[in-house]
Amino acid sequence: MSSLYNIKIENLKGVGKKRGELFNKLGVYSIGQLLNYYPRTYEDWSSVKDISDVENGEVTCIKGQVCSAINSGYTRSGKIITKLQVSDETGVIELVYFNNRYISSMLKYGETYCFYGKISKNLYGIQMTAPEFAKDCDSAIKPIYNLTAGLTNRMVINSVKQALEMLPETVNDPIPDNIRDKFNLVNLKFALNNIHFPENQFALTVAKNRLIIEELLVLNLGLRQLKNHKREKNKNLITKDYSKEFESSLPYNLTNAQKRAVSDCVRDMMNKEITLNRLVQGDVGSGKTAVAASVSYSAIKNGMQVAFMAPTELLAEQHYNTFKELFSNTNISVGLLTGKLKQSEKNKVRKSLETGEIHIVIGTHALITENTVFNNLGLVITDEQHRFGVAQRAKLLSKGNNPHLLVMSATPIPRTLGLIIFGDLDISIIDELPPGRQEIETLLITDDKRQRAFNFIRSEIQKGRQAYIVCPLVEEGETDLASAEEYAAELMLNFFNDIPVGILHGKMKSADKERVMEQFFSNQLKMLVATTVIEVGIDVPNATIMMIENAERFGLSQLHQLRGRVGRGKEKSYCILVSNYDYGTSFERLKTMCTTGDGFKIADADLKLRGPGDFFGSRQHGLPELKISSFADTESLALSQKIADFIITDSHYLTDDRYRGIKAEISRLFTEIGDSSLN
Ligand code: ADP
Ligand code: MG
Repeated sequence: MSSLYNIKIENLKGVGKKRGELFNKLGVYSIGQLLNYYPRTYEDWSSVKDISDVENGEVTCIKGQVCSAINSGYTRSGKIITKLQVSDETGVIELVYFNNRYISSMLKYGETYCFYGKISKNLYGIQMTAPEFAKDCDSAIKPIYNLTAGLTNRMVINSVKQALEMLPETVNDPIPDNIRDKFNLVNLKFALNNIHFPENQFALTVAKNRLIIEELLVLNLGLRQLKNHKREKNKNLITKDYSKEFESSLPYNLTNAQKRAVSDCVRDMMNKEITLNRLVQGDVGSGKTAVAASVSYSAIKNGMQVAFMAPTELLAEQHYNTFKELFSNTNISVGLLTGKLKQSEKNKVRKSLETGEIHIVIGTHALITENTVFNNLGLVITDEQHRFGVAQRAKLLSKGNNPHLLVMSATPIPRTLGLIIFGDLDISIIDELPPGRQEIETLLITDDKRQRAFNFIRSEIQKGRQAYIVCPLVEEGETDLASAEEYAAELMLNFFNDIPVGILHGKMKSADKERVMEQFFSNQLKMLVATTVIEVGIDVPNATIMMIENAERFGLSQLHQLRGRVGRGKEKSYCILVSNYDYGTSFERLKTMCTTGDGFKIADADLKLRGPGDFFGSRQHGLPELKISSFADTESLALSQKIADFIITDSHYLTDDRYRGIKAEISRLFTEIGDSSLN
């Protein structure tokens, strides 16, 4: 198998330079990668239903004889509409096609075909709209691939078939026999054959399961290896814990959860055998900044420098002000280093970092550049870590002598997943909010109540508050969702023409984004219409209301993140979720948002309902791209974890040839994210 990653896709019959480039667009360059290009979904032609048994809304296959003439006409909007009837022994169904001129020449009266499509049942009978059809039901489960213009599903199928034939008789399986036997997993060859061309539904299930387990296992073992790598002896040992002293300088008492997180970190830094390498995970508003400040305080008092990296300039500035305030009665000097500073200012800050005059520097990516040199960097802190890849983190770490690492994240992640995604870090969880926080009142409304919602928003603004309106990003080829700009234009024209509204979307230059945020921050703008780019961690306490359009489009965790932008001040805050649906699972899902404000509960619900795809997004966590694990469920997540534990504790892991295959897969996966420490 592994050698197939070295054979270019162009070597397949029927794939020349041009078609090869189309495959490249999909991220497929080699035969091996084609075999890992798994179907998006399947059409199950293997179980043919009687027409009398079909149900409204189901996608199914029927087999029947064309029993009417094939008639074409025009719809009122000028589309060609073709209708025909098909019968089996149990009933009759009407088929409808739009703008398909070829149907009447492809289907023949009196002949029998299989049809595959979505059933609709109403007063007038049973219909299928634009079903696929085939002369022989080859009783197969047909793979459906994600495509790109110029590449058809059939072409991909043909290529995959050839690729599968190139697999040797016995494929070297990265999961060794002993593990497969023990945990009941099918072998790689069976899995690859059946993920593409399943023999039946059961074979598909076990194939998928096996591939998910392998992928999670490779990820998990790889991350654990990273952790071992960083677990060198403590080169920045601290001898005294100053957290009590720091705490007494605060205007409030730390919560127990905050105290636990601080002492976890300080304990690690005082341990000779290890280096602090920890994630502090806490919901928005749980007070992670104070934790970071306390840990920094102890580090600095023990003679080290601290670097604190934030994902945007605005967040860096915010933290800079907070730290200056927190350290105002000490002799600790705080510096700021962002790309926005004048060159002379940057030079000055860099100089003082090199001499050690600055004890803690807050900054953006400017911290990572070559010419930033530290005197004695002992602790690196990154905020909202999912914005940074593992590789960038490593770069900042390289500026010290194996400094301690503290990563902070506001994205609650279910425990099972956290262990995998953050396999390279120890975890402390802040599961408690400071006292006196108000719940954000969350309302779920349908489209038709929008006008009332706007009136409510207006009344909040008249009280002097500010508002966010979130509309989803327009995906390519999608027209039914309003883009931020059009949407904002419409709002300003029709509802809020007397109110200063700002727009924020992903296509804007970052300087423009920052300018808009700045204006919102300083209360010049009363309303921000934005796609999901609203800065994570941005703190505008005066914003008390958020409305989220097409809420059903978002994962719950994402909604929770967005909602966390309000409810940051003393005033009561609101979140209005707008959805076109007031029934079904997506509606039920959204109702969870109205009943709990607990990010971890919400994340659990999200995992159960949607699977881990939302959490795995590679941009989210700087992880390598996963091919199939978004289909994982709680059981496969737990099983992969169990197998990883088993392998790690197997004393042969480091030396045994059996594990060579899986190690090769680990280094292949992690090369993509540029971490060469695993090679
Ligand atoms: P996040 O975890 O989202 O980064 P912050 O660190 O920004 O949260 O804290 C949110 C707010 O809560 C800040 O205004 C901070 O001063 C305040 N805060 C933090 N810890 C406490 C506490 N123990 N008691 C009261 N207020 C606190
Ligand atoms: Mg924060």
